[in-house]
Amino acid sequence: MKHSKISIIGAGAVGTTTAYALMLKNITAELILVDIDEIRCKGEVLDLSDALSFCGASKVRGGKINDAGQADIIIIAAGARQKPGQSRVELVKKNQQVTAEIIQSIKPINPNSIIIMVTNPVDVLTYHAQKLSSLPRNQILGSGTFLDTQRLCGILAKKLNVAEQSINAFILGEHGDTQFPAWSSTHIGGIPLLSFKKININDLESIATETKKRAYDIIACKGSTYFGIASCVATMCEAIIFDQKLVVPLSCYVPQFDICLSMPCVLGENGIEQILPIPLNDNEQKKLAHSAQQLRKLIS
Ligand code: NAD
Repeated sequence: MKHSKISIIGAGAVGTTTAYALMLKNITAELILVDIDEIRCKGEVLDLSDALSFCGASKVRGGKINDAGQADIIIIAAGARQKPGQSRVELVKKNQQVTAEIIQSIKPINPNSIIIMVTNPVDVLTYHAQKLSSLPRNQILGSGTFLDTQRLCGILAKKLNVAEQSINAFILGEHGDTQFPAWSSTHIGGIPLLSFKKININDLESIATETKKRAYDIIACKGSTYFGIASCVATMCEAIIFDQKLVVPLSCYVPQFDICLSMPCVLGENGIEQILPIPLNDNEQKKLAHSAQQLRKLIS
């Protein structure tokens, strides 16, 4: 039987933490790391290899960029990261160039590959990767607001004293400053959040702000974020490899706006298999349109 292969382009903090999460979760047989900094990449491969005997994966190796294009899943986490106080959109010029170079060099891409974009600004770069590659749009997706949604669930879980996994909530739109929570569709154990007495209307605004600010807070303290995103990306790979049909908010192409932003998606072996029509109230519809408008400006 053919074994599964995942390549990670960009063996920095996000790329290597994702590799480690994939190994610990026993998701793939072979991991290929690629970075323009070949010495660092070699060191990361050697270090990760020391953990192999505790994991299901049989191989971690360094690779050339065209090798990466043949994997079952290609994760792109290469490029500049935010400096303290810097927004994700400020990375656009530099990382657009990095993404274009990478997509060009991994061609011809395995026609069955799923590409996961992680590099920021992730919505804009997912859109560009879709335009530049030869793959159908459903096979190129961005981690989008999956991480922001986990942050939201964590904050709500503490407030309500319930498990994060029992919360059904979505941050939608841009993985960035125009994101918003779809409060009207948020449920805990099937009960609408808005009917919980422990949460009032003022709390909603501060929870949304705390969620949005979380990345800035982490970067101000330690320079970068990687554990949360690595766990999200490993979960996405698991959903693809095991064809789980997991419902998660991911950056996907939305024809109505002609851009990529996060909506609830069904994630399986074919990548994004459905975009679910989440009910939004008038205010949320406006926020979605605003987020789309900001992203469209950035793209054009
Ligand atoms: P990092 O600086 O630690 O690593 C980036 C790596 O990319 C470096 O090792 C660099 O050598 C490599 N690289 C640069 N250009 C390359 C190219 N053309 N080909 C191959 N490798 C190349 O940065 P990081 O903290 O790992 O962050 C990586 C990206 O992930 C950033 O854009 C960051 O903003 C983004 N990020 C996204 C999310 C999310 O939720 N989507 C979360 C955290 C970080």
